[in-house]
Amino acid sequence: MLAEVISIGDEITSGQRLDTNSQWLSSRLAELGARVMYHTTVADDLAANVQVFRAAFERADVVVATGGLGPTADDLTREAIAAAANRPLELDDEALRHIEQLFSRRQRPMPERNRLQAMFPQGSRVIFNPQGTAPGIDLEVARPGWSSCRIFALPGVPAEMFRMWDDAVAPAIRALFPTPQMICYRRIKCFGVGESDLEQMLPDLIRRGRDPQVGITVSGATITLRIAAEGESESECLEKMEPTIATIRECLGTLVFGEEDDELQDAIMRILSQQGKTLATAEWGTGGVISDWLTTAQSTAKQSTIEPIADSAIFLGGFSVPSAAARAKLLSQSSRLATRDLMENTADPSAVVADLADSARSILGADYALAVGELPRYDPKAAGPPPQFHYAIATPSGIRARSSPYAGPDDVIRPRACKQALNLLRLELLHAI
Ligand code: ATP
Repeated sequence: MLAEVISIGDEITSGQRLDTNSQWLSSRLAELGARVMYHTTVADDLAANVQVFRAAFERADVVVATGGLGPTADDLTREAIAAAANRPLELDDEALRHIEQLFSRRQRPMPERNRLQAMFPQGSRVIFNPQGTAPGIDLEVARPGWSSCRIFALPGVPAEMFRMWDDAVAPAIRALFPTPQMICYRRIKCFGVGESDLEQMLPDLIRRGRDPQVGITVSGATITLRIAAEGESESECLEKMEPTIATIRECLGTLVFGEEDDELQDAIMRILSQQGKTLATAEWGTGGVISDWLTTAQSTAKQSTIEPIADSAIFLGGFSVPSAAARAKLLSQSSRLATRDLMENTADPSAVVADLADSARSILGADYALAVGELPRYDPKAAGPPPQFHYAIATPSGIRARSSPYAGPDDVIRPRACKQALNLLRLELLHAI
């Protein structure tokens, strides 16, 4: 079953609103075993809408449209479907009665334009909208010499769309394809190598047409492997994915840090919790980003019923030390670096970062501390090697300091730098360095 999702409205094409309806509809269609081949987004323009619907009727077995069913002049979906399917619009008395009743219950006269919402392409079934005035359209469009295409048009208002999907559209699709294949997804999260290196470590897994299918995406240096399997039930899909996931884990080892929505900080919280250890941070250039991530991960882990974390905090606290004065103060008790060098920023930055980790650990009495250095200014025109970003962890058995090239725009590199530092800690906790 091939499907297409059509999202209609200037609001979406102009970028004023994110098209979350298409995302939601695609997930629901996948649950019913449909393969969504196209997402089409189209502005409030009749000719463009007619073209889009015609193309969709040709190439999809099921089309789900969202938006443009309101009573205003820019709501063109019913007209576009009527023109694309070559069916005149006809008044549906029952739908009109429902709209009139809604207005009379609100003690308001029904504007004439709302009559339009009771007009349907000939041969349509009306999809009842219990929450609004815009009924949906369910129409079978014949394709000469071929099976027909079924189009469902729903309002753009998410709550109305959800309810109408559950009540009418999902049951209709299930009835159309009575032995549905469902598609389930799992995600494996990795960090520590580039995307193409990782792909080479997975012989033959990322091949089109493989079942289960394995896809690879990257966001801020975190690599996500998406595994998709088709089956008749969720348990069948999951079982089918198990050998693939086992192979991935075997090939990638500690590059894998988690699954589904896990981030590096969630993995770290889990390991620290298992080991009964605590953590502190000191951030020079990242202004508390890592501290924020750890705080969120700690509260998420506490709320999780799967792996509850003990009441006492694991992340004990963090110092944000963007100024020379703050760093000098934090290091005044324990560091051998000269205060003057710290204040004038002439001290070796890697030594400062190592000492920041050490001081944060001892001041807060944590088992581990993570420190990150200044984020160097990135100048794409500068000659010579890129500047270095320094980070360090203080552990019960000493300090581990690292540096990496910092080359790229700040908004891209900053989260990557934070992740590199977190990953060093994760590998240390796993005794993998
Ligand atoms: P109604 O007449 O009941 O408002 P409609 O079908 O005319 O329904 P639209 O006017 O297209 O719907 O959209 C109504 C609202 O629904 C939008 O202002 C927006 O808030 C939300 N919406 C519409 N389309 C989407 C979409 N694709 N993703 C997320 N939200 C959407």
